[in-house]
Amino acid sequence: MSDQSRLDSTPAGKVWNFILLGAPGVGKGTQAELLTKRFGAVQLSTGEVFRAAKKLPVSEQTPAIKEAISYMQAGNLVPDSTVVAIVREKLHCPELHRGLLLDGFPRTVPQAEALSDILNTENIPLDAVLSYELPIEQVLERLGGRRTCPKCGASFHIKDRQPRVKGICDQCGTELIQRDDDRPEAIRVRLETYDRKTAPLIEYYQKKGLLIRVECGETPQETFARTLQALKLA
Ligand SMILES: [Zn+2]
Repeated sequence: MSDQSRLDSTPAGKVWNFILLGAPGVGKGTQAELLTKRFGAVQLSTGEVFRAAKKLPVSEQTPAIKEAISYMQAGNLVPDSTVVAIVREKLHCPELHRGLLLDGFPRTVPQAEALSDILNTENIPLDAVLSYELPIEQVLERLGGRRTCPKCGASFHIKDRQPRVKGICDQCGTELIQRDDDRPEAIRVRLETYDRKTAPLIEYYQKKGLLIRVECGETPQETFARTLQALKLA
């Protein structure tokens, strides 16, 4: 069955299960929020799970979470098997039958294969893998325009979120800086790394007929409208 007919044949009121992909700077986080609101789906972001895990009392830590924390505390990357174990725990949850939005997972083809097994076990059919795309020049403009206050951490943008006084933090009056991460060379490296790591995953979902590319618009609302169009819901 083609992508098209699969989407057209979905009944109204159906539960949607998505994976979101997108390079840093494309605004994927905002789309995740908008999709969650529209579909009532539960968002599972592995980055968020890890951040929350560190604050969990020990009594509430599952074995997989404990394992992840010990890797993070040692300054190591959490290995695939542990990430998969955490996702498995999280997906075994009745709430998810309202719909699922996965963000930050899977990152690799082996993770995608493991996910496919988990979703089969939990009876959660994957509807679409949304890949948000934006030309590199525009990502550079978005991320490269970011200015940060070194004292209070407030974040500004030379175009989209200007401080009241140019170059000065609204909140504490400190001179704003451009973080090393936000310099064009660093952004290029991050984007190249993302593309290299994600290309096999994109191909994997393309072969399965699940990949939907969404070209990012000027605003989050425009991108969201394109998402609904791509899903044949608008
Ligand atoms: Zn400040």
